[in-house]
Amino acid sequence: MADDKNEEGTEFRLVAKDELRFEVESKATVVMEMMEGKGEIFGTELAKGRKYKFSAGAKVAVYTWHGCKIKLNGTTEVAYISKETPMLMYLNTHVALEQMRVKADEENTRGPRAIIVGPTDVGKSTLCRILCNYGARLGRAPIFADLDVGQGHTDIPGTLGALSVERPSDPEEDYSQLSPLSFHFGHKSPGDNITLYSLLVQRLAEVINLRCEKSKKTNVSGCIINTCGWIRGEGYNMLKMAAGAFEVDSVMVIDQERLYTELRRDLPEFVSVVLLPKSGGVVERSKNTRAEARDARIREYFYGIDNSLYPHTFEIKFTEVKIYKIGAPELPESCLPLGMNAEDHKTKVVPVIPSMSLLHHVFSVSAANSIEDNITETNVIGFVVITAIDMEKQAFSVLAPSPRPLPKNVLLMMDIQFMDIK
Ligand code: ADP
Repeated sequence: MADDKNEEGTEFRLVAKDELRFEVESKATVVMEMMEGKGEIFGTELAKGRKYKFSAGAKVAVYTWHGCKIKLNGTTEVAYISKETPMLMYLNTHVALEQMRVKADEENTRGPRAIIVGPTDVGKSTLCRILCNYGARLGRAPIFADLDVGQGHTDIPGTLGALSVERPSDPEEDYSQLSPLSFHFGHKSPGDNITLYSLLVQRLAEVINLRCEKSKKTNVSGCIINTCGWIRGEGYNMLKMAAGAFEVDSVMVIDQERLYTELRRDLPEFVSVVLLPKSGGVVERSKNTRAEARDARIREYFYGIDNSLYPHTFEIKFTEVKIYKIGAPELPESCLPLGMNAEDHKTKVVPVIPSMSLLHHVFSVSAANSIEDNITETNVIGFVVITAIDMEKQAFSVLAPSPRPLPKNVLLMMDIQFMDIK
């Protein structure tokens, strides 16, 4: 498979419909170059002669419709060529979506809205990326909506968000150059606060609908929605809720016949539900690896890919910010104030008193100005981490992407923590 190995790297010759898969070893980087032919990474065409750099843990697949020659330099954990891929079926899925866009354009109606569902580690986010990139390559601008709060593909973990994919994503950086619309959830699983999760999914769908009303291009291009791998019990109900909130017309189920059968039974008839195979290249991640990926995503927010960004650490007085948490601890119905039910509690904005327990937590900086705004449903504009607390001085040190002052003073506390160590 590997044609040639020397100090200059290892060369791989791919024929049409081959896929070169590689994983970068921990603490290593791999530089990849396409020497000849045509190839793509998750739907984005590669530029011949450009050196693409991938850091530790990256799992990459170069697919070619026509054949190409690839050179890898650096330590890979695995690197092999596979001839068995679901790419043709993924391409057909894209073609079906594109036909819906053409029709929407002609009839001045809404373009496709597709939700991708399935267990964890079947390539849901990857399929979203491929479909968005293929759409963008045809001059469309699909919206990528990410409901996977555990990984945070549009922003950081603990958020739900969306972005408009006007150009194919960069193979090295994914969508990190685009500014997403994000809402604060604060936890890594929807199950930690189902009421808040449903509210935010509906809010996100609403905002996207407003955007579609304003822009014909967005409306026609449609929406690709990523979900998390929680597909049983309440998780299944969350998928149905999301499908309803976004008024989807297509559901792509990856690698789960049972889920496919259930959704066909439970969703309205006009929704087309298709079952797609998973790629053999998708690597199963342990709980640990997933936690590491979450951490890496937050690190990337502050430090950039390859440490290309320089975050700032500065002190803020307790009095300079207002800190809240969304969702109060559960109380028995009998203890609730008159007219309030337990569900309201889950979306309630609760003030947080500064204490040592805030250390290392991630905080969203809300776009809201004060508690008078509807903080729960207001988008967030950035994130900080509290890296030190001085109770005597009544001040925190925060890690922030930009220098003092914070752009707004309403901070929302996440369950998620980040240790700022290299
Ligand atoms: P899910 O969203 O279902 O949890 P992902 O799409 O995030 O799964 O895929 C898991 C990992 O597998 C990612 O790191 C992704 O880069 C990698 N991956 C996806 N498809 C391939 C492939 N064909 N070859 C190699 N790695 C892949």
